Amino acid sequence: MPSPPERRRLIDANRVDDAIEGLGDRETVREWAQRFAILADPSRLTLLVCIHYAKEICVSDLAAAAGMSDTAVSQALRLLRAHGLVAAHREGRVVRYRLADATVHDLIHHVRPHPGTTPHGID
Ligand SMILES: [Zn+2]
Repeated sequence: MPSPPERRRLIDANRVDDAIEGLGDRETVREWAQRFAILADPSRLTLLVCIHYAKEICVSDLAAAAGMSDTAVSQALRLLRAHGLVAAHREGRVVRYRLADATVHDLIHHVRPHPGTTPHGID
């Protein structure tokens, strides 16, 4: 919990008010920090970009695309799935993964935009 505000001299009190108002609920900031922590790994981000462009892809194909071992991919997918960033879809013996978080999908457009679109273009 943040400590109670100290009495301190402010240079631009209105800017401080704007900052506090903009900050809003600190829980939201905490959730975003956790999301960014998951994304702050080149392997996981690579997998998310590959999944995005494949739309749906199984572990072994994803490993081939990303140049990673099946084990490393499975491990990363478990974490991404636990945090709701990807979802699994079983079809017979094959399990394919797809993006499951609209905001992360949008962020991936900034990492690797769809060819011929702006980063804000959607699927
Ligand atoms: Zn897209």
